[in-house]
Amino acid sequence: MRTKSLKKNKINVITLGCSKNVYDSEVLMGQLKASGKDVQHEAPKNDEGNIIVINTCGFINNAKEESVNTILEYVDKKEQGIVDKVFVTGCLSERYRPDLEKEIPDVDRYFGTTELPLLLKALGADYKHELLGERLTTTPKNYAYLKIAEGCDRPCSFCAIPLMRGKHVSQPIEKLVKEAEGLAAKGVKELILIAQDLTYYGLDLYKKRNLAELLENLVQVEGIEWIRLHYAFPSGFPMDVLDLMKREPKICNYIDIPLQHISDNILKSMRRGTTYEKTTKLLKDFREAVPGMAIRTTLIVGYPGETEEDFQILKNWVEEMRFERLGCFAYSHEENTHAYLLEDDVPEEVKQQRAAEIMDIQAQISWDLNQEKIGQIYRCIIDRKEGGYFIGRTEFDSPDVDNEVLIDATQHYLKTGDFTMIKITDATEFDLYGEPVQA
Ligand code: SF4
Repeated sequence: MRTKSLKKNKINVITLGCSKNVYDSEVLMGQLKASGKDVQHEAPKNDEGNIIVINTCGFINNAKEESVNTILEYVDKKEQGIVDKVFVTGCLSERYRPDLEKEIPDVDRYFGTTELPLLLKALGADYKHELLGERLTTTPKNYAYLKIAEGCDRPCSFCAIPLMRGKHVSQPIEKLVKEAEGLAAKGVKELILIAQDLTYYGLDLYKKRNLAELLENLVQVEGIEWIRLHYAFPSGFPMDVLDLMKREPKICNYIDIPLQHISDNILKSMRRGTTYEKTTKLLKDFREAVPGMAIRTTLIVGYPGETEEDFQILKNWVEEMRFERLGCFAYSHEENTHAYLLEDDVPEEVKQQRAAEIMDIQAQISWDLNQEKIGQIYRCIIDRKEGGYFIGRTEFDSPDVDNEVLIDATQHYLKTGDFTMIKITDATEFDLYGEPVQA
């Protein structure tokens, strides 16, 4: 017997997947708040509200599974009368709506990635164009994501993102500067620039790669002290960005550039538009242009046709390149991608084994690099206090994916959101320990 809940409408937005989904949830919540709605982000289980919006991820199998399980969890709660309405949006919904509507019909409605006004209507709110660039951020107050473009024009064979996010669309520089000023006014000091392909920025709007010009404008924004670059692409990399990174202290000496693989056979099949030689030269150019910069990359192992020899080439290269930060994923065979036409011939256990081998190599590299930091002093931003420590990051570390700096909170008092000079006293593979020192 379903019980009608008597709660005042309270909307709880749940975000799965990547930082671009976080950004979209923040935009949704900003609009809802402006329409006087009671909205929260990932509310505690004992106070979830009665209307649930799940912003899903549809990138690879694991992410899809997590999205489906989350939908089922809330459909079950609806059945029990704990929640009244369940709405689903985001990439999984964009990609599989007809199947989802058939298989999980108890969801009140499914929305695509470009249907914000419709979703708002279903939640009893109107889309307010004048709010463009305004949102309810969910990250710690000192940093925020800035989505400079959406969609992607690249033909990478394994990737379903263009199916879910469409063609590349850059946001105008003026709008992004206004957004950055609004964030700075709210105390944001670090801007994390995101897109599907950051380095493609401007090609549609300004008919040229214009990331450097955007950065020239963003470094003028008062209050913003760090600007971080995520999701660069190797081929056609705008080298003027490196000159600016070197010249401008506000631009972190850090770049995230997913490279996926390095064996020429695999790069060709992946349609990455680059080669072993070109990619390796690009990384060498990075290190020459900005000595000491941190390079983060992401790799895929177990791609169709990946031989033991291809994998050996990749392993040797990871050892040689000594990335500061690296993530490695097992290939996921995704419908409607070009690679789906190939046979998914690498057994799952071999994929997992190869991913583990790469991460073992990286753990050792990260350990060695972190040992070299002991005794050094770094300007750190303090994100939070947790478990007896203040947790911060250097300019070489992005939130949630990279190293953290731990400062003993029983010995020292620090203000979250502030920059502090920290002397590193100890290090593990992926964390640093330190103490505050005078600037
Ligand atoms: S650049 Fe990234 S988002 Fe675009 S198709 Fe390639 S992997 Fe996908």
